Amino acid sequence: MKSLLIKNGRIIHTNGHGDADILIQNDSIADMGKNLMIPEGTDILDATDQWVFPGVIDPHTHMGIPIKNGSSADTFATGSRSALHGGVTTILDFTVLESGQSLQQSLDTRIELAKASVCDVGLHVNITRFEPELLEEIPLLIKNGFTSFKVFTTYEEAGMMLDYNQIEAVASIIGEHGGVLMVHSEDNQVINEASAPYTEGVQTHPRFHGLSRPASAESVAVRTLGEISNRSNCTIYIVHLNTAEGLSIASQYPLLKVETCPHYLLLTDDVYEQPDGRMYVASPPLRKQADQDALWQGIQAGSIHTIGSDHCPFCLADKPKGRPFQDIPNGMGGVETLFPTLLAQFVKRGINLSLLVQLTSHNAAQIFGLRGQKGDLAPGCHADLLIVDPTNISNDWEKDLDTILDWNAYAGLPALFPSTVIRRGEIVISNWKTATRSQGVLLKSST
Ligand SMILES: [Zn+2]
Repeated sequence: MKSLLIKNGRIIHTNGHGDADILIQNDSIADMGKNLMIPEGTDILDATDQWVFPGVIDPHTHMGIPIKNGSSADTFATGSRSALHGGVTTILDFTVLESGQSLQQSLDTRIELAKASVCDVGLHVNITRFEPELLEEIPLLIKNGFTSFKVFTTYEEAGMMLDYNQIEAVASIIGEHGGVLMVHSEDNQVINEASAPYTEGVQTHPRFHGLSRPASAESVAVRTLGEISNRSNCTIYIVHLNTAEGLSIASQYPLLKVETCPHYLLLTDDVYEQPDGRMYVASPPLRKQADQDALWQGIQAGSIHTIGSDHCPFCLADKPKGRPFQDIPNGMGGVETLFPTLLAQFVKRGINLSLLVQLTSHNAAQIFGLRGQKGDLAPGCHADLLIVDPTNISNDWEKDLDTILDWNAYAGLPALFPSTVIRRGEIVISNWKTATRSQGVLLKSST
């Protein structure tokens, strides 16, 4: 049996922290505490004066998804490699429902692609068409461990939108069977009205992207979804929430879970004025400082439950200079910088690090049925963990990324990258450098 002891680390738990040793046997945590019984031949890793966190779960990535002319720049292979370098040991990605496919077929296609991943992968099931046969598949998928589904309140032109009545019908089925409905929450009608001035193609600067998808689109959608969650008794997970008003409305509905993203916490719409402003075109767009401040307050108040990267990266050449914002592929990378940049912010702002553990691993494990496998450092859990030297905070890390991307939205911001990352007992990052990497495992929900 392979056996590894992490010695003298400061363990950051969801509730507080404490100094303890962690004994890993094969792919799981066997024991924790002081003066553990250590089998002969155990390797020892000294973590004195270091922080030890559970492996990060990024609940929102889009590896190699099709867009109008091509796909997002990272595949499962390259994106998961980046993920590990930033301490993300599990990604939760999405299926893509191609025309004519059943939900199961869309899942099978994506499972095949996800085999290239070197971190663990779970898959949310996209429902981008409202058809009776698709809805009939939901109970069996939930029974088989695929418990989370995603719908869109917009992207009508791309044929991906469900209207609110259709979403309620889907929510009722999912609620009845104990699953979770994730929703891209921007009201389509508000977007249509706000976009009208830009359809002529005269105002094409990236700054108009934000104006074409205003904050009020989120407020309208979140309120409607809150009412749907009450009526259908279904947990609804609002992906990439980004406005002060949206958060305030979401807090009024007990069955809504709220995810935000690093870009809304670390950047504002000022970036659209920069020479590389086009690179920040993502949906929903970046917002005002007041929105960002409200999100940080929400984090401290517990009204935000998870932080996902919404990793959908593009290289500089994918978003050519001068192209109208209407034709720029939407999305930014973030899986590799998710935890290191947030950790640095938590330190800078003096926010309890246990809260960061809740937001970046524990809560996602609870919501998506991975409790007992992921999201905690405890005996029986997978040995997914990262070790961080608190003194290693730096603004100069871009050159060290393990990425194929040639542009990073967070370059120059403070970050604290893990020196060691362990996935299922295997040291995948050692001294900030990639070590061994084996194939990731497909995750199923156990609730
Ligand atoms: Zn997304």
